[in-house]
Amino acid sequence: MTRDHDVLVLGAGLAGMRAALEAARGGADVAIVTKVHPIRSHSSAAQGGINAAISEEDSWESHAFDTVKGSDYLADQDAVEIMAQEAPSDIIEFEHMGVIFYRGPDGKLGKRAFGGASLARTYFVGDITGQALLVTLYDQILKAGVKVYEEWFATELFMEGGACRGMVALEMITGELHLLRSKAVIVASGGLGRLYEPSTNALICTGDGYSLAYRAGAPLMDMEMVQYHPTTLAGSGFLMTEAARGEGAYLLNSEGERFMKRYAPNKMELAARDVTSRAEATEIAEGRGIDGNVLLDLRHLGPDVILKKLPQIHEMALDYLGIDMIKDPVPVRPGMHYQMGGIKTDVDGATSVPGLYAAGEVACVSVHGGNRLGANSLLDTIVFGRRSGKASAEYVKRTAASTGGEDLLASEQARLQELLQRPYTGDTPAGLRLELAVMMDKKVGLYRNEAGLREALAAIEGYKQRYARIAVGDKGRVFNQALEFVLELGYLLDCGEAIIRAALERKESRGAHTHTEHPDRNDAEWLKHVVLTHRGGREPEVSHVPVTITRWKPEVRTY
Ligand SMILES: Cc1cc2nc3c(=O)[nH]c(=O)nc-3n(C[C@H](O)[C@H](O)[C@H](O)COP(=O)(O)OP(=O)(O)OC[C@H]3O[C@@H](n4cnc5c(N)ncnc54)[C@H](O)[C@@H]3O)c2cc1C
Repeated sequence: MTRDHDVLVLGAGLAGMRAALEAARGGADVAIVTKVHPIRSHSSAAQGGINAAISEEDSWESHAFDTVKGSDYLADQDAVEIMAQEAPSDIIEFEHMGVIFYRGPDGKLGKRAFGGASLARTYFVGDITGQALLVTLYDQILKAGVKVYEEWFATELFMEGGACRGMVALEMITGELHLLRSKAVIVASGGLGRLYEPSTNALICTGDGYSLAYRAGAPLMDMEMVQYHPTTLAGSGFLMTEAARGEGAYLLNSEGERFMKRYAPNKMELAARDVTSRAEATEIAEGRGIDGNVLLDLRHLGPDVILKKLPQIHEMALDYLGIDMIKDPVPVRPGMHYQMGGIKTDVDGATSVPGLYAAGEVACVSVHGGNRLGANSLLDTIVFGRRSGKASAEYVKRTAASTGGEDLLASEQARLQELLQRPYTGDTPAGLRLELAVMMDKKVGLYRNEAGLREALAAIEGYKQRYARIAVGDKGRVFNQALEFVLELGYLLDCGEAIIRAALERKESRGAHTHTEHPDRNDAEWLKHVVLTHRGGREPEVSHVPVTITRWKPEVRTY
């Protein structure tokens, strides 16, 4: 069945719902397409908080500078300035919508310290901040009359005359494919964490939007910048929020030493994530780890702080490792967490493809550059979600509706039919996905080198050939998650290839990209973004875009 709207938003996380709300406020007829119920989006897993320079002793300039320094000077400073300037009003608006942020004993909004920040500016709701924001936003979009296509899975963007005019989506409960037409599409489909194993990301974070937009002609930028979080739980890779260190937790090696004093003597445990993750990896490599981990020690914080401000991670360590962090330290290690790069957009979310916008983790404005500061991602989703929603509502006013797309629907039907009918070849989608993700962690993780990256690229090419023959175990129509899993694997393969190609291009070390043969940052040659554009051939076109510098010249980065 075909349906028409002004603006279609792909994704119901914080970026998607914030964009939808603003587009609806701008007078557009808006619908959201989401593969899971909105409040199951990965934004709901965000624990620690959201940054803004709200307090009297803080300033947006200080927030912007910390962000630029944290990015290892790769972020575009015009975009960072906008984010830091608009953060306070966006957070206060959320409070007015009904989010009950933590307040201190004086009744004022309480804040906690986060890594790489020169003072405490992270606002929070316990350690369930993302969930609190998401639930409130869901209420707001329902009130604003936004239509939600819930448990609908986008399989392809609808392109017409070089512009994006909607998408094809699979209604999971019936197995029916639909053509959804619109004058503009905002891709807000979240990150690609499952490309790595282990990862802190939910199983649904499979990079769908990067691949869909890239194949539709929108360039990807900063893809080599993959963040490893310093404190993921041993074994499972679950996140132990940075807020633990923000509240004062220590990182210890096997000798019981607070080793960060040798890597970041001023900020200690609250250095930026790339710095802290590398410090842990060095300790482990030099034999001062404990079974490949270091320890996160919260004991001195006492039960009150742990149970009131960090209840979720207390429960996770207890459930998964049987460790009560009130009494014992918890083994942690660096694990894949976030993709700084993404679909290249301007500060209003517009890509170079007419009618195609992007916001949230899938987008690259770029405010995170080489390394994102903790609690700046929720902020990015809200500020640039809102801005893309506003810009798209304006755009649709001067854009005519499409009446085409039936041929795309037919070709998508044929493609999925062929997929379902393929004979079993011995490769399982889950097996291939695991192989891919383990390989990415090993060869395209915290440390990279030329030979490893070349091997990774060859491996991806092999996986792509196997993928072209992969069969779907479930042949049914109703809730065919096996089919969804295979489609997601295709998206992940595109994302993996993009990361490897961008990493091969950048011959220096900056932020999260540590190239062991080029260990230093090289501003003379590499103060620029790596951009990948799909031109239809097997290999993308690789180009460079200068970093926008407004007021902060690159300096040596120490914490
Ligand atoms: C465990 C964890 C903790 C975090 N903690 C913090 C924190 O404290 N502070 C902070 O600033 N950041 C944090 N982050 C990062 C931050 O939460 C995310 O970057 C951010 O929430 C992403 O939001 P989003 O709206 O871009 O995407 P998401 O919230 O991931 O939403 C993506 C949406 O896209 C939809 N979608 C995707 N593909 C398709 C498809 N093919 N068809 C239909 N729908 C699709 C999904 O259904 C979903 O609704 C954390 C991340 C993790 C994983």
